[in-house]
Amino acid sequence: MSLTISGIQRRQITVPTGLFIHNEFVPSSTGQTLVVENPATGEQLGTISAAGPEDINAAVKSAKAGFEAWKKVSGPARARLILKLADLIERDAQELASLEAVDCGSLFTDSMGMNIPQSIGCLRYYAGWADKIDGKTLSMDGGIAYTHREPLGVCGAIVPWNAPLMITIWKLAPAIVTGNTLIIKSSENSPLYALRLAELIKEAGIPAGVVNIVAGDGPNAGQALSEHMEVRKIAFTGSAIAGRKIMQAAAKTNLKKVSLELGGKGPSIVFDDCDLENALLWTRIGITANNGQICAAGSRIYVQDSIYDRFIEAYKKAAADAPTVAGNPLDPTTTKGPVVSRVQHEKILDYIRQGKECGARLLFGGERIGEKGYFVQNTAFADVGDDATIMREEIFGPVASIAKFSTEEEVIFKANDSAHGLSAAIFTNDVNRAHRVTQALESGQVTVNAWAMLSPNVPFGGVKESGFGRDMGEEALEGWTQVKAVKYHILPRL
Ligand code: NAD
Repeated sequence: MSLTISGIQRRQITVPTGLFIHNEFVPSSTGQTLVVENPATGEQLGTISAAGPEDINAAVKSAKAGFEAWKKVSGPARARLILKLADLIERDAQELASLEAVDCGSLFTDSMGMNIPQSIGCLRYYAGWADKIDGKTLSMDGGIAYTHREPLGVCGAIVPWNAPLMITIWKLAPAIVTGNTLIIKSSENSPLYALRLAELIKEAGIPAGVVNIVAGDGPNAGQALSEHMEVRKIAFTGSAIAGRKIMQAAAKTNLKKVSLELGGKGPSIVFDDCDLENALLWTRIGITANNGQICAAGSRIYVQDSIYDRFIEAYKKAAADAPTVAGNPLDPTTTKGPVVSRVQHEKILDYIRQGKECGARLLFGGERIGEKGYFVQNTAFADVGDDATIMREEIFGPVASIAKFSTEEEVIFKANDSAHGLSAAIFTNDVNRAHRVTQALESGQVTVNAWAMLSPNVPFGGVKESGFGRDMGEEALEGWTQVKAVKYHILPRL
């Protein structure tokens, strides 16, 4: 069974619709399906197989068998297969970017410019680690010890719909380079890219069982994977609600490892000594990129009082000078795609309504665009109170909440007065201030004079209720391995 969609320049793209288990596409055991919808039009594109608990069992069986062989494959041999996968993603970049556009509404140009190159870079980066995952030699009383890092076994990755290929690869690359086998559960909102990725995994020659990919919803497929007694780790990116359920599932079953990359309410702090043009650029990109559907979005913008009025006027003008072209995300002239789904659309519009009612000043936007599809205007509120819902809760939409501050101490307090701690940005030309403030912020990452730059060698993840564990960088390798200590007792000469 397959599904054909119209991609960039109306090129037809066909993907299989089954569950990818043991390098074959198979229907779900119960015949369960998911509907695939185009958020730009609301049109249903077709249906694909959705996994239930029995299918998760089949995927785990495959991954267990795959693990026995994969753990014995040498690092360089694993690296060759991972590099091959990177090459195939590069070859099919336009198709993958088309699938993301049609399925999640992300701009084709954004996927081509960021999500796909980041995915390729991440695979190549971790391929480079394949022969460098070493332990230590340690001396001890009466002997000597060494440690080595071993794979965990069968692992699961539960991924969201925003930048879905990139976030999937953040987990896949370090998981398999360290010798684990992985079951990926794609989001019900964005299964198409994963079906093409599965085809490329097979084409790359990655053996059966090393990567299984299933579509399915959270309560069925995600929960079954999280509860499975033979799964040793779940790497999760998504909402805090689902993250808590996954931790509970791990706690009540086999105490599997869990890593959680959850939501954010990122502060962007604009000091009066900054390059104002640069700050305007990045504070706008920070909340409008991918329609604000980014966990690291700079959704709280704090501006120092001495430049507040000037900043607000310039922010409004910059928005007016760059009118949005809303439409088909496949069209390279489109600057705004739809948000991912009807549910997300309604949620964002409800937050905007709350913004209008909370006494904040609407600077621009505030409405849906058109009647077809799930489009929302870029929206900004100024003078937003510290306790306003739009200042405290993650909206996951293109809605900026702007407020004034006077001193460094005050803005550090405001920025940290949040349950989240994923990503922050500060704008200043004072290097001492930059160091002071970056050290004081409770955040997994802080960007100075830009917003959320990504690189595969730099770890990404949160603190506080934004989660724990890291994707990318050397740090991620620790989460996909366990340490064994081997101790030698050196006997005295008889
Ligand atoms: P979501 O939690 O609804 O879904 C994410 C994934 O979890 C999906 O695959 C879903 O099927 C699965 N899931 C849902 N309930 C589950 C359950 N009970 N057990 C197991 N799996 C379950 O989140 P979403 O709407 O897809 O994504 C948006 C959220 O993700 C936002 O809060 C955003 O901030 C966060 N996010 C975080 C990062 C990060 O790196 N920190 C990156 C992207 C998105």
